[in-house]
Amino acid sequence: MIMIKIENYINGELVPPNFGEYFDNSSPVDGQVYSQIPDSDATDIDNAVASAKESFKSWSKLSKKDRHDHIMRLADEIENHFEELVEAESKDNGKPEHLARSVDIPRASENFRFFATASLHFDSEVHEMDGKALNYTLRKPVGVVGCISPWNLPLYLLTWKIAPALAAGNTVVAKPSEITPMTAFLLSKICQKANFPKGVLNIVHGFGHKVGEALSKHLDVPIISFTGGTATGKKIASVAAPMFKKLSLELGGKNPNIIFADAEFDKSVEMAVKAAFSNQGQICLCGSRLFVQDSIYNNFREAFIEKTKLLIVGNPKDENSNLGAVVSEQHLDKILECIELAKSEGGKILTGGNRIILDAELSNGYYMEPTIIEGLSHACRTNQEEIFGPVVSIIPFKGEVEVIEMANATKYGLSASIFTKDISRAHRVAAEIDAGIVWVNTWMLRDLRIPFGGMKNSGVGREGGFKSLQFFTEPKNVCIKI
Ligand code: NAD
Repeated sequence: MIMIKIENYINGELVPPNFGEYFDNSSPVDGQVYSQIPDSDATDIDNAVASAKESFKSWSKLSKKDRHDHIMRLADEIENHFEELVEAESKDNGKPEHLARSVDIPRASENFRFFATASLHFDSEVHEMDGKALNYTLRKPVGVVGCISPWNLPLYLLTWKIAPALAAGNTVVAKPSEITPMTAFLLSKICQKANFPKGVLNIVHGFGHKVGEALSKHLDVPIISFTGGTATGKKIASVAAPMFKKLSLELGGKNPNIIFADAEFDKSVEMAVKAAFSNQGQICLCGSRLFVQDSIYNNFREAFIEKTKLLIVGNPKDENSNLGAVVSEQHLDKILECIELAKSEGGKILTGGNRIILDAELSNGYYMEPTIIEGLSHACRTNQEEIFGPVVSIIPFKGEVEVIEMANATKYGLSASIFTKDISRAHRVAAEIDAGIVWVNTWMLRDLRIPFGGMKNSGVGREGGFKSLQFFTEPKNVCIKI
């Protein structure tokens, strides 16, 4: 097998880490090491920031149209390398190829197209003072942006940050997850193919506590956009906030999925399965707490178990596989520990709960049964802490007041889903739930224009549409006396 050597991308060149150290990258699909990741450090970040700082001088002065054209060429090149990216994302992350083909990679090019175009329509404000004065607000790019992203939707979330940052006229140093670096590495090659201006986008690979931290505290990086776990967000904030950096934090979730008795039964069962197990349950928006109204609880539970048992966990290359591998052995062990915790808290495993060993060459991969747990209080650790795997806890409720109280009784507040045919109830409950995003009769229906993000420990700030372009620009008001 050919061992792929991943390189950093600095000032338009693919370069090794300064100290020449690498660490192994294995595929969760078969547990085999197949590439080497640069073990970069603060000196590599210094080089990348210097390159981004220098290129900011020209990139920030380009016309919006010129920046748009450069960014659109990246989107074109992503599409030219579509299947290569699909295979790489699946091999690195474990997700089914059909999921990378229908969600991850199309969204990566869409992020570039969407924000390149949005920047052409992004206007600032004018405030007139009764004929006495005129205020207008300039929106200038901030400078070198640090973009730090997680492993669950690797290219999708990296481009969700890079695209608006670049479109707004900033330059970027990106730090992809060390667990899934491959599509970010391919993106650097795509930048070279697209003749993307040198130094405008830089990508440094390595561990979070080394390169992520060095990026967060760099004096020449005034703005950080981070997506990842709440504990990491806290560390980044503790470094960046005292330096008064602009910060956007998109963090963890423990999202309620609420099924009222009047909901369309089959549709809500189908959506609950999707919300619990898509991407092996490794989406921050997954509905991991399933609240079902008591009058339909037994029927719903049986239908939910039946549909879950039909899910195929298998080779990510196989079109019939609903679930692939979870991202790493360490993560699989963590999920299995969470299941032991659930049992010790009195939880009953209705289906799943175990590792799956697939045949032949996939026997060392990290596969896991979709798991449903019942019988736990909404307040126990299993129903409070993020598991981030194919595990859902099902909880009965009597009425609206009780379910709102239980849904809100966590430190998180990212998203929620409500299933009901009663439109007034949908509005009432949506208004009361602590979440940045509430879906009614659906899940993960995403419009890139909406404010995206969470409340409480799920994050600070909102990205998406013009909110992203506002975050990645600095407003400056000019007041003209008439
Ligand atoms: P993580 O926090 O472990 O890592 C995320 C990134 O931060 C990685 O690139 C990592 O190297 C880096 N990092 C780690 N320590 C750092 C430090 N001290 N300083 C700077 N950077 C550091 O998260 P993960 O395990 O990769 O991803 C899973 C988590 O991400 C889950 O909690 C999930 O809910 C969350 N997530 C949130 C959203 C959202 O939009 N709210 C989306 C996807 C994932």
